[in-house]
Amino acid sequence: MDKKKSKTSLEGFKEDAPEPQGRIEDKGQVDNDNNEQTVLISLKGKADYEFMISLLPFNLGSSTYLHCQPSTVNSNKGSNNIMWHKGKVTYEDRCKNLGQRGVVVWFTGLSGSGKSTIAVEVEKELLKQGKAVYRLDGDNVRHGLNSDLGFAKEDRDENIRRIAEVAALFKDAGLITLASFISPFQKMRDFARERAGEDSFIEVYVKADVETCAERDPKGLYEKAKQGEIENFTGISSPYEEPDDADVVIDTAELTVEESVEKVLEAIDN
Ligand code: ADP
Repeated sequence: MDKKKSKTSLEGFKEDAPEPQGRIEDKGQVDNDNNEQTVLISLKGKADYEFMISLLPFNLGSSTYLHCQPSTVNSNKGSNNIMWHKGKVTYEDRCKNLGQRGVVVWFTGLSGSGKSTIAVEVEKELLKQGKAVYRLDGDNVRHGLNSDLGFAKEDRDENIRRIAEVAALFKDAGLITLASFISPFQKMRDFARERAGEDSFIEVYVKADVETCAERDPKGLYEKAKQGEIENFTGISSPYEEPDDADVVIDTAELTVEESVEKVLEAIDN
């Protein structure tokens, strides 16, 4: 089991929820349909938590996957009366129907590093191959779902939290989901990984140094940021935490768009 797969924690399930503290009150198998092992755990203490973990081994092609159902966490911050309503169609069923594995491909990198350019080409190529694919793009999402958010740290985190949840749902629907977001903070990228599930998340670091990005400046934003017209601009007046353990690293200062696209397609194929 690799480093990422062994990482299990409650962190990030609900950003504003108090840390779970206390003892495990109840632990037991509550369902055993279709080889599925569902474990319900209650934690009682400073805050009450109840969460459900479903482990569902399934085969697709020559590989076996262990699917962790999105966990439900109830904390006393919100309502304690929300329970996961399990359907009769699973992630496994949807993947089989579509003949592919739902996955989140998460592109991170500075503005102008090439995330959108690569994701657009990857989407086109996958569609040509008959795959069900959907692209979520930073600027596009800020026109709708996240139009109420700015670029301060809390807003950036909330932006990524919502996208991570949407991407995880799309993945659960069986789609190859391409998410291109600067996503400058490791903590939130880890959150996105956790929501999609370790086996269903590919982090692609689209790497280009800030000088290269500023030279490209496809949207003229670096120029504006340097003139002080944009606050909290990543790489100029706001930090970017480089991924320490990305699944794929693409140096777009060195590679062509075609070579970059090829690397992503290979990672999705494996
Ligand atoms: P981002 O989505 O990361 O903000 P964009 O995709 O909008 O970046 O812009 C990246 C710019 O860099 C585009 O003008 C693109 O043509 C150029 N570019 C040069 N080389 C590459 C490459 N290997 N991959 C992606 N984009 C590249």
